[in-house]
Amino acid sequence: MRKAPKRPVANTIPALPDLEVDALDTTERVVQYCIRHNLIDGVEVDIERLIELNPNLTLRRKPLADGIDAYIRETSPSRYEIGVNSNHSRTRQKFSMAHEFAHYQLHRDNLDGLELGERILHRSDERNHLEYQANAFAAALLMPEDIFRTEVRRTQGDISALAERFGVSQLALRYRAKTLGLRGHGV
Ligand SMILES: [Zn+2]
Repeated sequence: MRKAPKRPVANTIPALPDLEVDALDTTERVVQYCIRHNLIDGVEVDIERLIELNPNLTLRRKPLADGIDAYIRETSPSRYEIGVNSNHSRTRQKFSMAHEFAHYQLHRDNLDGLELGERILHRSDERNHLEYQANAFAAALLMPEDIFRTEVRRTQGDISALAERFGVSQLALRYRAKTLGLRGHGV
């Protein structure tokens, strides 16, 4: 009789309640979820896989109108589609996905208040509270604080190295540095 396959090495992350796919409504929870599901490869978060793991979400990449990054819409009760502009760079698409994922986790009962098809982060000034929240959540998800601070030290704030490391645009990187109150050379 064959030996039973070895169980994976015990996870050192303490078990937390409420890590269901629809309850990742704080960045701490979503980062924990990503760690548990091996969605962080080195420092880069697999946002696409994070979305795919939620049976209520469908991700579509397709060309969208100029100036539109992405959208989220309810396609049937409790089912949502996230659409991302396939004309954009991979890094920009990643941030767009994270932003729409944030809307899903934080605002899905409130989507009527959002534009269908939106420009993300590249707006010069974000005054809308829901949009601000979604951007902050997306940035924290793609660049978790502990990892981010470590990498900033390691690279001595080299923006292009950091952006490449996290798989994000330099704009997103600067935004994250600003939300963490980091400033100085480079970031
Ligand atoms: Zn938005």
